[in-house]
Amino acid sequence: MDHFPIFLAVEGRRIVVSGGGEAALAKLRLLLKTTARITVFAAAPEGALRALADEGRITLVTRALAPGDALCAALFYAANDDAAEDARVTRLARADGALTNWVDNLEASQFITPAIVDRDPVTVAIGTEGAAPVLARAIKADLEARLPASLGLLARIGKGFRRAAEALPMGRKRREFWFEYYFKSGPQALEKDGLDGIEPALDALLARHLSEAPRKGRVDLVGAGPGDPELLTLRARKLLDEADVVIHDRLVSPAILELARREAVMIDAGKKGFGPAMAQDDICALMVEHAAAGAHVVRLKGGDPGVFGRLDEEVEALEAAGLDWAVTPGITAASAATAQIGQSLTKRDRNSAARLLTGHDMQGFAEQDWRGLARPGQVAAIYMGLKGARFIQGRLMMHGARADTPVTAVENASRSDARTIATTLGRLAADLEAAALTGPAVLLYGLAPRAAAHALPRLTEELA
Ligand code: SAH
Repeated sequence: MDHFPIFLAVEGRRIVVSGGGEAALAKLRLLLKTTARITVFAAAPEGALRALADEGRITLVTRALAPGDALCAALFYAANDDAAEDARVTRLARADGALTNWVDNLEASQFITPAIVDRDPVTVAIGTEGAAPVLARAIKADLEARLPASLGLLARIGKGFRRAAEALPMGRKRREFWFEYYFKSGPQALEKDGLDGIEPALDALLARHLSEAPRKGRVDLVGAGPGDPELLTLRARKLLDEADVVIHDRLVSPAILELARREAVMIDAGKKGFGPAMAQDDICALMVEHAAAGAHVVRLKGGDPGVFGRLDEEVEALEAAGLDWAVTPGITAASAATAQIGQSLTKRDRNSAARLLTGHDMQGFAEQDWRGLARPGQVAAIYMGLKGARFIQGRLMMHGARADTPVTAVENASRSDARTIATTLGRLAADLEAAALTGPAVLLYGLAPRAAAHALPRLTEELA
């Protein structure tokens, strides 16, 4: 982010514009929404500018900007549509200490003006740092359509009611009250009884919320999928929007955590495969503590909570504490990894069963039904299998698996930094070591990428 968005207090402050044509007028249309004092310098102003001056909405000085004209100005716009003149006035305004914007010249500007959706006092500013004005316009149009025109009015009236609403306990109770006001009872009252209907509606709504028994906390155990936010379920998205507390694993990608409600308490329970981590008991205790205090807790886990996710320990702790809970499934790494290589986990005439294995368990490297897996045509997705790759390779070969059985490691499946290492059982440990994977990876035993003929030479290059 090269440009940091802020909302500048401009009430009663000077904003100076240099320019008398369409570029200046376009900026004035935005600036006139503010409570700033606006002065325009233009040697030959258009009629529309004179009209604004006659209405007393701007101060018009009919000459070119001179040194000292931008003194005490908070902001300055160079809008002459003339490069030489804009360069000159920008230099002068900077010398006067104003923050300067040269219209349509990003590099020469100290600040830029966003596209604005105006529901005063609710204002949405959209910026693309000059990269995609079309995109900014499309987002603006989308928001304009989505935000009711009455939103600003409701917000202004709501502001006067904030004191009264403090009778509700902070947090969820108060949030629910405001949510209902803005999106349900407020617009309804406005439609039915007009402006006069809003305050009585607020009073009635507050009385109802005050008399309701406090809601019990709850815990949603939610699958965050393999990392790409687009692979979240709609329900996961909604729960993240509502959560008071989010307790997440290390595997959950930052792009997904960004989606959580801004006020939510975020707790990183980062469980590293072999490193230090928050103990499972501590995680359970945290969930119980927050939910018992009335919070809506989202326990966010990578992939699907029910696949190597220690779901049962957490559910048991919640049951023991008498708390409500529910599971929201997610896309597990095996699904994401097979999708990444264009394969399916099961296939008619190839394998009518597929296994999900872990490469290590509480005791260390995990023992599995190696004899069964060594038979031709078997498919398994091996989670947490990188460290134990040599052990897995040895066990399978010892039980008669062919050295040329395909194995594909998919690292960071579904993410932009995904990597695919296509190899065989015989070369598994050596190739993985050479590839030095650092992200989470699943080993797809018995599967080669669909485009294996192309992927394998690329792999050789990568290793060379
Ligand atoms: N509940 C998770 C699995 C947790 S165990 C799920 O359903 O996916 C952690 C292991 O999952 C990692 O060691 C790795 O083997 C696998 N994994 C998780 N996310 C992954 C990803 N984006 N790409 C590849 N493997 C992943």
